[in-house]
Amino acid sequence: SKGYTTMKTPSLNKGLGFTGAEREALGLKGLLPPATLTLEDQVELTMQELRRKSSALDKYVFLQSLQDVNSTLYYAILSRHTYECMPFVYTPVVGEACQKFSQIYRHTPQGLYLSIEDRGKLRSILDNWPVEDIRAIVFTDGERILGLGDQGIDGMGIPVGKLALYTACAGVDPSHCLPVTLDVGTNNQAKLDDPFYIGLKRHRMNGAEYDAFVAEFIEAAVDKYGESVMLQFEDFGNTNAFRLLHHWQEKVCCFNDDIQGTAAVALAGIIGSTALTGTALGDHRFLFLGAGEAGAGIAELIAYAIHVETGKSVEECRKQIFMLDSRGLVCKSRLHELQHHKLNFAHDAEHVPNLLSAVKTLKPTALIGVSTLPKSFDQGVIEEMSANNERPVIFALSNPTSKAECTPEEAYKWSNGAAVFASGSPFEPVLFKGKTYVPGQGNNAYIFPGVGLAAVACGATRITDLDMYIAAKALAATVPKDRLDAACVYPHLRDIRDVSLKVAVAIAANKYATGQASVMPQPADLEGHIRSVMYEPCY
Ligand code: NAP
Ligand code: MN
Repeated sequence: SKGYTTMKTPSLNKGLGFTGAEREALGLKGLLPPATLTLEDQVELTMQELRRKSSALDKYVFLQSLQDVNSTLYYAILSRHTYECMPFVYTPVVGEACQKFSQIYRHTPQGLYLSIEDRGKLRSILDNWPVEDIRAIVFTDGERILGLGDQGIDGMGIPVGKLALYTACAGVDPSHCLPVTLDVGTNNQAKLDDPFYIGLKRHRMNGAEYDAFVAEFIEAAVDKYGESVMLQFEDFGNTNAFRLLHHWQEKVCCFNDDIQGTAAVALAGIIGSTALTGTALGDHRFLFLGAGEAGAGIAELIAYAIHVETGKSVEECRKQIFMLDSRGLVCKSRLHELQHHKLNFAHDAEHVPNLLSAVKTLKPTALIGVSTLPKSFDQGVIEEMSANNERPVIFALSNPTSKAECTPEEAYKWSNGAAVFASGSPFEPVLFKGKTYVPGQGNNAYIFPGVGLAAVACGATRITDLDMYIAAKALAATVPKDRLDAACVYPHLRDIRDVSLKVAVAIAANKYATGQASVMPQPADLEGHIRSVMYEPCY
């Protein structure tokens, strides 16, 4: 019956939210008990149920199951209780969910699984998805899921969760979103040995065949959804991530959040720190611990931003940025052994083996930790930073909390309250010598949802470094005075929807200014237009 089908369709189902008139009109009589509830009642009731679940994974599964039953209610919960729900939709709990994805697989399609064995047929497989009008795709090949390594097809939790945040944090319409996992096999032996693993049981495809498969997918998506479909790379392995981004960023509307989103968030923190340190971006000397996707991404965007602000060449700007990897300082004498993404920062400097000696010889003004090496910003390092700088910038961005290069307490204590600190994971405020310090969290969720909203709202045909720089500036401008007074360089996560709107407006304005917008005519009131396309879960 029509009523039954309506209730079995997640985007149409309202459960007890159907009014009496709707129950008559849709043939729902008898399928529901007599009580009716408003959406707000349902949100309240469901939050109570969520809070009663004892384990984090149970909360994750509960929320995912709700999405399969009543998606309006699911997004209402995420939009109204974003701060509380985010950890159970995305990091950190999505990590555990991916590790166990094959065990908790729920028999309903959440996105597309595109297998290397289906190569040549991807364009027709896209037709199997029930929605034609797709505008935002997040896709992974599962090779480097968070910090958990290769999860193969079980990485599907990542595009699903990330897109949920596009909706929760920026109001990107979920019906226009598509999570995709490219299954090219896995090198995770435990998965290969697991009889219940749901992916292809073969080792990872690589080389030309891999590239051709990714290309087939991207070209199929552009063919079906148009040139302004946004394609977000997520959690690809290092070599593929940089290579694919460089290959595709000038051909389609795409970006890589691990590289570029992270970069914009970190850059925003540096820009924000100027209000506290008095040091302009271009006057900094940066030292990175870690030269992976996050490190190289941040370093390249900082160099680009200095170039935009000072007019110096990007090559010249890179010279004020130094990096250490697991073998010490990235420098010229190591050119032969360096991965491609580090080469731009292999300067003519003497090799030093560790962080403390690098801080002593290079005398950086800002220290950025993206190393996954816990406690590496030790007392000696932070005291040396503080001896050289009135207000050292110290960002310990490694996740999760246990991997942080230092805690905020340590940074404030060893710098005698002078550090401008930010972290990758959330930390509580710190009381030090009678003053409250709020450690800002450089969460990527400040940037990528706004990028997606802008791309969808103006039909962006490309996403560029300039967009990322503009996004960073827009984010930095949202930090309220009371946060800055507490030495915090990021806004509160509670305000994420307002922040996303500001980021989106700034990027969309740039898309129109650079001729990379396809929604015409250009709206006179850009903010009003973007606000109007933001999805509001309601009955
Ligand atoms: P990645 O690509 O694996 O890079 C890790 C880097 O750290 C590599 O360059 C590695 O050196 C280096 N490293 C490892 N051990 C080291 C050691 N003992 N000493 C010095 N360097 C060492 O990882 P990623 O994607 O860049 O992420 C790095 C960290 O940043 C993660 O903890 C992640 O959670 C965090 N992150 C935070 C944010 C955020 O705060 N918004 C966003 C993204 C990532 P080799 O190159 O020599 O292997
Ligand atoms: Mn990621």
